[in-house]
Amino acid sequence: MNNKDVLIIGAGAAGAAAAFHLAKAGHKVTILEQKEQGLIKPCGGGMASSVQEWFPFDLKPAVEEIIKKVEFNWCLSDPVIAELPGTSPFWIVRREILDELLISKALEEGAELLRPFRVETLQKSDSHWQVSNCEGIQLEATAVVIADGSNSPWPQIFHLGPRSQHHAHTTSVRLKGRGNLKEGTARFEFGLVNHGFAWAFPLKDEVNIGIGTFLGNQAADSKKILNQFLPNLGFDPNEVNHHDSLLRVWNGHHSLHGQGILVVGDAASLCDPFLAEGLRPALMSGCEAAQCLNSWFKEDIENLSSYTKIMKKRWGESMAWGRNISQVFYRFPKVGYQLGIKRPTAPQRIAQILSGQMSYRDIAQRVIKRLLFANR
Ligand SMILES: Cc1cc2nc3c(=O)[nH]c(=O)nc-3n(C[C@H](O)[C@H](O)[C@H](O)COP(=O)(O)OP(=O)(O)OC[C@H]3O[C@@H](n4cnc5c(N)ncnc54)[C@H](O)[C@@H]3O)c2cc1C
Repeated sequence: MNNKDVLIIGAGAAGAAAAFHLAKAGHKVTILEQKEQGLIKPCGGGMASSVQEWFPFDLKPAVEEIIKKVEFNWCLSDPVIAELPGTSPFWIVRREILDELLISKALEEGAELLRPFRVETLQKSDSHWQVSNCEGIQLEATAVVIADGSNSPWPQIFHLGPRSQHHAHTTSVRLKGRGNLKEGTARFEFGLVNHGFAWAFPLKDEVNIGIGTFLGNQAADSKKILNQFLPNLGFDPNEVNHHDSLLRVWNGHHSLHGQGILVVGDAASLCDPFLAEGLRPALMSGCEAAQCLNSWFKEDIENLSSYTKIMKKRWGESMAWGRNISQVFYRFPKVGYQLGIKRPTAPQRIAQILSGQMSYRDIAQRVIKRLLFANR
């Protein structure tokens, strides 16, 4: 058995980011991915351009649209338009290309990729982690990074992440052409979706359209919503194939590390419970996991607890507020739209959230301050 330093389960954004930084730091890394290359991923592709700071190579090959305006609507009318601050704060990436770009950079740094390789078992044996696939191929490493997305069974087995997982129900469609979506504009549609929203994000010559519901356990009636939303975007709703999936979203502060094991991205339930932003935390956690493992290998640190701590500080503290906002907003969306989105400064704030310039915690603190002043 060829012994590795790190096995990474899953070659999505989180796993690929971890693989790149670990390989760059000189570790023997093997990435295990169940799927063949190039399949469409159900993802809107909206991503804060600030993630570029975490990589020493250009992410632009994956970027197909730079968003300058965000349009919010209530039941297809009552629009609010937010001009995004800065030069290019919000990108739309083609997900398959982003993941492949990150993987190719990890391979250039010396990582190894086994694909298709579906991990069926994961266990600890003495000081090593062992994985195997259904053909009985076994691999062993000193550490393992769990990066296999929202359906990962391992966090529950190894007591990582939230004990009780919370899911958003999502629907995604990719359509040829751009309909009437204006250049550089992303659309968010509230009111049509109970407990959630619909979106339309432009790619170069296609559009990613999606629906997400964030409260309760019921998926939206996607067909009905698409029948209303698509004609409004200039598309024919007939013969559209949609893809439904469950997305694990943030549900409290929990340990994301064990002895030689870390969980990243959707597997760690890091996705934003208000807007379903999952790419930034996937990339952030992949980078932080790599940094922490690197220090652990070099014996600068005794255990991997610093990873849990840093993800709580950099991401979890904002998500705790995001979850509160989500629970209030999606219970009373009409009031939320009127008092939240239609507030003169609100679209700008949401744009700043999307671009990573502001956190939900900053927003909550502003609201609290406003209430305190109002009550004086
Ligand atoms: C419809 C939809 C729209 C979204 N839109 C946006 C958006 O616009 N912006 C945004 O920021 N986020 C968005 N998200 C969230 C974002 O897509 C996820 O948060 C992100 O994909 C997380 O990356 P990841 O690497 O953790 O997981 P994934 O991208 O799911 O990668 C996991 C990988 O692990 C592999 N895998 C799974 N099981 C195994 C196994 N047993 N063995 C080997 N490999 C395995 C999978 O094949 C996959 O390649 C959206 C999600 C959905 C569902």
